[in-house]
Amino acid sequence: MPNELIVEHCPSCGKIYQKNMRNLCSDCSAMEDRDYRQLERALMRNRFLNTEEAAAAAEVPAEKIRGWIRSGKLRLGDYPNLADQCDLCKAPTRTGRLCLSCSNRIKNELAHALDQERKFKERMRTANAYISKR
Ligand SMILES: [Zn+2]
Ligand SMILES: [Zn+2]
Repeated sequence: MPNELIVEHCPSCGKIYQKNMRNLCSDCSAMEDRDYRQLERALMRNRFLNTEEAAAAAEVPAEKIRGWIRSGKLRLGDYPNLADQCDLCKAPTRTGRLCLSCSNRIKNELAHALDQERKFKERMRTANAYISKR
């Protein structure tokens, strides 16, 4: 049986293309490769660029660079000032989808919520005990 033809709309430009590993049509993957090479070249010249500076130097949207960071295509090890953006407060983050202060806040809020729930259950238990004693 010949290779099955699976066509899809390219998620980037909407054109119909034959589905492939990269989930991009050939035009968009060529463009993506070109953008990525431009970024690499910009970072080779200066690895201390931050995301916005790198975007300007490489003429690639900062969003795209953040996408590469998020997908793991672009490793931050050699580039101390590149960063992704926090999903919540848009602060730069190099540690994942949330910046340190947001992830700490969420952890605290979660702990607080669990604590409230525990106290509430305790109160209910005491109230129930009181009621059943009567
Ligand atoms: Zn496309
Ligand atoms: Zn944040």
